[in-house]
Amino acid sequence: MNEPWPTSATRFAGVIGWPISHSLSPRMHNAAFRALGLDWAYLAFPIDPDHVSDAVRGLFRAGCSGLNVTIPHKHAVIECCSAVTPAVEAIGAANTLIPDGDGGMTGDNTDAEGFLRALDECAPIDLDGAEVLMIGAGGAACAVAFALKGRGARLRVANRTEEKCAALGEVVPFTHQAIEDAAARAALVVNSTSLGMGTDEVPADLPLESLGPHTVAYDLVYRTEPTPWLAAAAARGARTVDGAGMLLHQGAAAFRQWTGVEPPLDAMRAGLTSR
Ligand code: NAP
Repeated sequence: MNEPWPTSATRFAGVIGWPISHSLSPRMHNAAFRALGLDWAYLAFPIDPDHVSDAVRGLFRAGCSGLNVTIPHKHAVIECCSAVTPAVEAIGAANTLIPDGDGGMTGDNTDAEGFLRALDECAPIDLDGAEVLMIGAGGAACAVAFALKGRGARLRVANRTEEKCAALGEVVPFTHQAIEDAAARAALVVNSTSLGMGTDEVPADLPLESLGPHTVAYDLVYRTEPTPWLAAAAARGARTVDGAGMLLHQGAAAFRQWTGVEPPLDAMRAGLTSR
């Protein structure tokens, strides 16, 4: 007979966002807890932007053992933290909160680590001195820029709202020709916009003609099937990295800090793709 679950001893972690129902993190983390036999549960909490601080403090007061943070709260949660890591200071956003056992919490950003681990796993490349083009300059782009600069890459950035680029790298005008020219020189091209999320067409603002076997194309957008841009880049001979690897590895880095246990990557990967 199955034991009733959860019990009063079950620990819980979760993710906050607004909206949050699309999040794949519960599947990924609950698969990890099951694989390791940990009596933990991972939940998704829809928290509206007016109540972020109250909600975060309340969840930790109620015994929460760790939180992930997603759009639009990654910046707002910093004010709740009693300490933040150098990654949070540099990126200006936290995606992971770890209780310190003293009523406070440390803010970390594992997106940069997740980005690099997925790249190293799928398409290893020497970034030191390498030219990189990134399309997009939002929250995820800040983490990617931090990661790439840490490896010595020379970063060029194109974004619809051009004034956001300068803080991240050398500005590339947001025109088709300028983006294609920059991509032709780049060893790595990163899409950190949400373009390509809900379409089967290759977004016109992403470079394609200049991609080839000399390029690694990395799309942060996560879908169960390859994004149209990545599929088209692969057809031109480029090596590709999809958003699933970054999602997996940023989650694994958070899991490691909450539980003190090495994350079961295969179970987490399977959890992400389960229906
Ligand atoms: P964000 O802060 O809202 O930034 C959105 C970016 O997309 C901005 O650069 C924005 O340009 C651009 N954009 C949106 N619509 C556009 C359009 N129609 N034309 C041109 N540019 C457009 O979001 P974010 O947190 O950076 O996330 C960006 C993407 O990365 C999302 O798809 C997200 O799901 C994905 N992501 C994936 C992971 C992962 O683990 N795989 C982690 C984080 C994020 P403007 O500045 O001009 O508005």
